[in-house]
Amino acid sequence: MARKAIGRLGGSAAGNAPELPLGQTAKPPNRLTAQVLDERLRGTRFVSLTPKRVLNPPSTTGMEYWSLNPYVGCEFGCSYCYARYTHRYVVERAHDAGKLTDAEFADYRGAHGWEAFEKRIFVKEQLVGALDVDLKRVPLGQTIVIGTATDPYQPAERKFRLTRAVLQRLVRCEGLSFGIITKSPLIARDCDLLVRLQERNDLQIHVSLITADAAVARKLEARSPAPHARLRALRKLVDAGVNAGLIIAPVLPGITDDVAQLDTLFAAARRAGARFIHAGALRLYPAIRDRFLPVLSEHFADLVPKYERAYKGHGYAPRDYAKALSRRIEKLRRKHGFRNQGAMFERYRPAKMPVQGELNLRGSLP
Ligand code: SF4
Repeated sequence: MARKAIGRLGGSAAGNAPELPLGQTAKPPNRLTAQVLDERLRGTRFVSLTPKRVLNPPSTTGMEYWSLNPYVGCEFGCSYCYARYTHRYVVERAHDAGKLTDAEFADYRGAHGWEAFEKRIFVKEQLVGALDVDLKRVPLGQTIVIGTATDPYQPAERKFRLTRAVLQRLVRCEGLSFGIITKSPLIARDCDLLVRLQERNDLQIHVSLITADAAVARKLEARSPAPHARLRALRKLVDAGVNAGLIIAPVLPGITDDVAQLDTLFAAARRAGARFIHAGALRLYPAIRDRFLPVLSEHFADLVPKYERAYKGHGYAPRDYAKALSRRIEKLRRKHGFRNQGAMFERYRPAKMPVQGELNLRGSLP
C-alpha cells in the first residue's frame, strides 16, 4: 500500500522520498527546423506547421468572407504578390518563441526579407482536424475563399495534397458559398470533388491570369504555369460542369492594361468557356514594393517614376485610373458576351491589409 503511494508520487520503489523537480531543465521549444518534410534540388524547403485554426474569420482579416490557405509561402514567386508578409509573421513568431536560432531566422527570412516566401514553404499538416472544429463557427450562407494569401495548388500540393484533403471535408457541407483562387492547372485534378461541392453549395473557381503573353508573364511571375496551361485547365473545369472563370488581378498599369492585351485575354477566356471575368488594378502595399519595384526597374524602367508618383503614400491605384480601368473592362465584357458580376469581385476585395490570424506553430506559441 505504502509502496503504491510512493510510486504514484514518483519516488523509488526502495522507499526514498519522491524526487522534486528542482534543477530539472525546462523542455526546450520544438525546433521549427526539425519539422522539415522535404527539400528540392534548387533549395526550396518544406516545413511542417500544425495549426490550431485554419479558417480566418472576417473579423480578423477585414474581408467579407472566411479564408483558408493550406500553405504559407508560394513557390510561384510572383513579383507583385502581396502575401509575403504572412510568411514573415510566421518566421518572426517562431524566432520570438525560440523555435528558430538567429542563424535559422536569417535563413528563413532571406537577405531582403522576401526571398524565403518562395523557398521556405510551411505546410499546414493535419489541417482537416482544425477545419472540422472551425466549420462549426461558420454560419449558413457565408463564404469561404481558399487561396487568398497563397496558391492552394502550388507545386507542393502534388505531394502534400492538403487542398484535396480540405475539399474532401468540404463536400460534406451544404448551404455555404465557396471560392477558390489559383494559377495552377493542378486544380483540374480535383474536378470530381469540385462537382460534388457545388451540388449543395455555391462555388466559383477563379483561374488567375494577368496576361496571355507568356513572355510578359515570365518577367513578372518567376515560376507560375504558362498562360496556355491555365486556360486549358479552365476549359477542363467548365467541361466538367464546374462554375469557373478568369480573374485578372492585378492589372498592371502600362504593362498589361492596354486594350489589345486585355482583348486577347478576354477572347482566350471566352474560347476556354469562362463563365465570368473579374479584374482589379495593382495594389502596391509597402510589403510588395521591395520585390516588385526592382523587377519593374529591370524590365520596364521607364515606368518606375510613373508608378512612384501614382502610388505615392498609398497602396491603391489612383481613383481616376481605377475608374477608367473599370470602364475598359466593362466594354470588353460586353464585347465578349460576359455578364457584369462586379459585386462578386468586390466580395473578394480585401477591405484592409489582411492579417494572418489562423497560424499557430507546432508547440506552444501564445
Ligand atoms: S501564385 Fe498567388 S500566392 Fe503565389 S506568389 Fe503568385 S500571387 Fe502570390
